Amino acid sequence: MNPTYLGTALITGASSGIGAVYAERLARRGYDLVLVARNRERLAALASRITTETRRNVELLVADLGEKGGVASVEAKLKDDATITLLVNNAGVGTHTPLVESDVDAMSRMIDLNVTALTRLTYAAVPGFLSRGKGEIINISSIVALAPEVLNGVYGGSKAYVLAFSQSLQHELGAKGIRVQAVLPGATATDFWQTGGLPLEHLDKAIVMSAENMVDAALVGFDRGELVTIPSLHDGDKWEAFEGARRAMSNLLSSNAPAPRYAQAR
Ligand code: NAP
Repeated sequence: MNPTYLGTALITGASSGIGAVYAERLARRGYDLVLVARNRERLAALASRITTETRRNVELLVADLGEKGGVASVEAKLKDDATITLLVNNAGVGTHTPLVESDVDAMSRMIDLNVTALTRLTYAAVPGFLSRGKGEIINISSIVALAPEVLNGVYGGSKAYVLAFSQSLQHELGAKGIRVQAVLPGATATDFWQTGGLPLEHLDKAIVMSAENMVDAALVGFDRGELVTIPSLHDGDKWEAFEGARRAMSNLLSSNAPAPRYAQAR
């Protein structure tokens, strides 16, 4: 039996790795797809396989999300296509190089893709979602959002942005029919590592998950309505405790008087 039609999912960074697995899984769930990335050949090969296997409509949108024009073309699609019900902000790059050894222009390009493009695409999608009273956004963050010491600090900072932005979006829009999920993958077996300059073979196999397992677990979290999903964290209570402590502190962070521990010594 064919699954119920769920609208269209627009997935960025769909030409490989995590994005390509989302494409396949979401098509099987009943979404038509808009696949975004730079590599047309890889997108076309994936689209052809998914169409054959699922009979879903798959559209390609070749765009460089590190360039203003590329982002604008995807923003236009999100604004104009009222069938879009799910945005998966997945495209991203990272590196492990320390700050002093990193080229600041490369860091800036990373922010353009990981932060600016993700933000602009969200802004493009949300008004339509609000007017239709529903819409879903999956933002691919990373465990380095919580552990910025692990890889390059600009990468960690960019993924911390994705987490905080997602939490704020859910807070603002959750009551208006919009659902947001931030996914924090640990090390995942994709081209990400080679592209970032640290081949996968250099990692301990015990900490590396397949992209298929990562996405399937993230979709279980999505189905459960989780705002934050960390597929590789076995002890979920650790996240609950961390998040509980953060929320408990959030009302205590502003005051008209400095904390006594900062009193000037007389
Ligand atoms: P990947 O296989 O290298 O995929 C990256 C995707 O982003 C590709 O489809 C790539 O396609 C696209 N992309 C890169 N630059 C782009 C640009 N300028 N414009 C448009 N698309 C662009 O790596 P992945 O692991 O699946 O990465 C997906 C996401 O997961 C990223 O946000 C990454 O930060 C996050 N993540 C990965 C890991 C991991 O260990 N792999 C862990 C945590 C989080 P084209 O080259 O065709 O443009």
